[in-house]
Amino acid sequence: MSKVVVVGSYVVDLMSRTPHLPKPGETVLGGPFKMGPGGKGGNQATAAARCGSEVTFVTKLGGDVFGREALAHFQAENVNTEFIKVDPNQATGAALIAVDDNSENSIVVSLGACGTITEAEVMEAEEEIKCGDIVLLQLETSIEAVVTAVKLAKKYRVPVILNPAPYQEFPKEILRDVAFITPNETEAFELSGIEVKDEHSALAAAQKIHEMGVDTVIITLGSKGAFLYTGGEKGDLVPGFKVEAIDTTGAGDAFNGGFAHALSNGQSVREAMTFANAVAALSVTKIGTAPAMPNKQEVKTFLL
Ligand code: ATP
Repeated sequence: MSKVVVVGSYVVDLMSRTPHLPKPGETVLGGPFKMGPGGKGGNQATAAARCGSEVTFVTKLGGDVFGREALAHFQAENVNTEFIKVDPNQATGAALIAVDDNSENSIVVSLGACGTITEAEVMEAEEEIKCGDIVLLQLETSIEAVVTAVKLAKKYRVPVILNPAPYQEFPKEILRDVAFITPNETEAFELSGIEVKDEHSALAAAQKIHEMGVDTVIITLGSKGAFLYTGGEKGDLVPGFKVEAIDTTGAGDAFNGGFAHALSNGQSVREAMTFANAVAALSVTKIGTAPAMPNKQEVKTFLL
């Protein structure tokens, strides 16, 4: 069984349907309310675990009801929760999401406890990283946590996938120790200054990011799939799958979790990208983020 170590965020998604998004000062009577596990780290950990990887998730929760719900979720998903810290003095991260009748949304994310993961807390997971096949990171936690995880992975020569989402500034030196980077179009622009609109501009942006020290650049392009670049004059589009999309939130997380799983199981980068496209395509056919992640059997049947 492949082992994936995810260091990242957990937030509870609190979603309300509303006829229209409230203006400043306005209170709107909403429609149905839904609560579910979310956060990029948690979603990616869930996706990789459902694909069949052994997953250790390093994060921090608050000592509240949302934190207890989160622990129960990860236990039910067979994720190793040994390195999920609970800080009784902080709140669990939360995303307050309003979605109107035109599917427009307005979101406030408070990272809470997972925004304060310290170097020492990541260091506690040193043995896990040492025995890992892949370390999977995002930018939705403290940068201190990301930098420490990269350092540990380097020490034990464990490949790192960095999903630079949501984009925030970080020390670019760490990119020399990142094997795979997986920005979407917006994050690719933040990193390279090049607007990604098509394969041609994806190549230019990927070249720029590659020059920053990352071996393999993968730019996700929504329903089109993902663009692969490893150096030289050309890149390669690994096409996405045609499905009826219902809710694309969390598609990037499904892609990253699926990619980490496939790669750590010895698939080639291209094969792993096709697998990741399949996991992500299946995820957009369902509503929600973590709950929409497909399981191993669903992906297998889809790829037949
Ligand atoms: P999000 O922020 O919504 O989680 P993202 O912007 O990070 O997503 P995208 O590039 O939109 O990431 O999508 C990631 C991957 O999901 C794509 O590379 C593709 O494999 C898959 N995907 C996204 N949208 C669709 C779609 N409509 N149909 C099929 N696959 C899709």
